[in-house]
Amino acid sequence: MDARQHLPRSADLSTLAEAVRTCTACELHENGTRAVFGEGRPDARLVLVGEQPGDVEEREGHPFVGPAGKLLNRAMQDAGLDREHAYVTNAVKHFRFTRGSGPRRIHATPEVRHIEACRPWLNAELALLNPEVVVVLGATAVRALLGNAYRVTRDRGKLLPFEVPTNGEDAAVHTTHALITTHPSAVLRTPPDRKEEAYQALVHDLTVAAKALA
Ligand code: SF4
Repeated sequence: MDARQHLPRSADLSTLAEAVRTCTACELHENGTRAVFGEGRPDARLVLVGEQPGDVEEREGHPFVGPAGKLLNRAMQDAGLDREHAYVTNAVKHFRFTRGSGPRRIHATPEVRHIEACRPWLNAELALLNPEVVVVLGATAVRALLGNAYRVTRDRGKLLPFEVPTNGEDAAVHTTHALITTHPSAVLRTPPDRKEEAYQALVHDLTVAAKALA
């Protein structure tokens, strides 16, 4: 089962954001968390797609507002991209986590079935936005948008052909570009002696997107 049955028939982004709150297409809604939908300009030429909301995003109800989001903002700025003119979202809209001994929630990577279940929401966002460049942040977003054929380490930083879905279905009407790069949380997890190098690699990839939009 996927989320198609939960999508409104005719919708704009705000209607979708309202509807996703009641999605029960996979068990992640049972965690007591709220779905976090994408945010940004409806006329954005650039869309960035991450993995899932993190702990801070889920608490605040907005995508990319935690530490990884702050790093992404800085990297976008260094690459000449303005987040205010972009749209940011995630492949999976609920936070998947495990509980440790205390109250802390520990991130858990979504499984393929969660990505598949949630894809109609992402397709519906992309169909409405029809962006010129989609930046694909990390392996989960790669799996959701490009399938198994691509790898972050091998394929990052290249403009790849990407078929924008239409009306939330898998049919494509418009071929544009996807650009794979690392998820900013991976930069945060990089050991201190290689963190700056990882950050500059992210900025380099985003610069490719900036040039494509220029
Ligand atoms: S993760 Fe996606 S498919 Fe699963 S319940 Fe949440 S919104 Fe629905």
